[in-house]
Amino acid sequence: MKAVQFSEHGDRDVIEYGEFPDPTPDRDEVLVDIKAGALNHLDVWTRKGLPGLDLDMPHVPGSDGAGVVLEVGEDVTRFEAGDRVAVSAGVSCGKCEFCRHGEHSLCKGYHIIGEHVRGVHSEMAAVPEANLVPVPEGVSWETAAAAPLVFQTAWRMLVVRADVQPGEKVLVLGASGGVGHAAVQIADYIGAEVYATGSSQEKLDHAKEMGAEYAINYAEEDFADKISELTGKRGVDVVVDHIGKETYPDSLKSLAKGGRLVTCGATTGPNPGAGLNRIFWNQLSILGSTMASHGEADDVLELVWKGEFEPAIREVLPMSEADRAHEMLEEREGFGKVVVVPDSEYDR
Ligand code: ZN
Repeated sequence: MKAVQFSEHGDRDVIEYGEFPDPTPDRDEVLVDIKAGALNHLDVWTRKGLPGLDLDMPHVPGSDGAGVVLEVGEDVTRFEAGDRVAVSAGVSCGKCEFCRHGEHSLCKGYHIIGEHVRGVHSEMAAVPEANLVPVPEGVSWETAAAAPLVFQTAWRMLVVRADVQPGEKVLVLGASGGVGHAAVQIADYIGAEVYATGSSQEKLDHAKEMGAEYAINYAEEDFADKISELTGKRGVDVVVDHIGKETYPDSLKSLAKGGRLVTCGATTGPNPGAGLNRIFWNQLSILGSTMASHGEADDVLELVWKGEFEPAIREVLPMSEADRAHEMLEEREGFGKVVVVPDSEYDR
């Protein structure tokens, strides 16, 4: 089969699309004929190399993908050949104390397809049964591939960790990114009043289409000042921050008393000043969140399949242009998800 792959960490020029041995499913795995994959910033980090990450090379990247079941291992019970499926990338052991409580993303052995083990940006992929979600007829392959990682991440942040309530004020930073645009839609669905930040008018218009009531151009104005102005100096109840060091001080400033900051990433750096004085005096909560449990992923994807939520598709490219797909993410061009399709399936 053909697969996107790299044999060493590095810049985009390490990415190739070429022959790779066909995968064979283990007893608990399903062989999927991949119709589409989608990129996440995680793919860029993984390609560049992360501390402690020791991959079997060549590595096939890709955490998001969708396609048709070709064959199943002997222990697989939920799927059969011909089923439409999407990949949900978090792998858990199913046995540790956290898994036994249904907290799969707290698993002691937690790892992510595409980051720690072989991914799905290839013509075929062998995926554990537990990591597949059924996809109804009528849902496009692009949508099925683009939704799982970012929508489950945003769902757990807002619904489970921050426990957002109807009528609360929620600020979503970087609202046109993958997690950001999912968070805007979910917060709006809950009935929160959504504030969004973005760096261009086009991205802010998009955030408003997704359900934001207020859009703030952080390139032109200080978002904490603007939140203070828009909320009559009160602040927001929840800030969704996946940006990290660059935004954290202003995220704390933007919170109302008793507010919650929920983070799933730190693209600009992991170590801002703690701001403990503001945290104790205003009685703030700082909440971490990673991916989601299988049940949480099922819940949010059900809503995507029904059309309640929609991943924005930025571009669909053949897998042979995976380097260009990585470039679009790294250069933050446009908004929404970049989808890659096996060249044999690409006919646009
Ligand atoms: Zn576990």
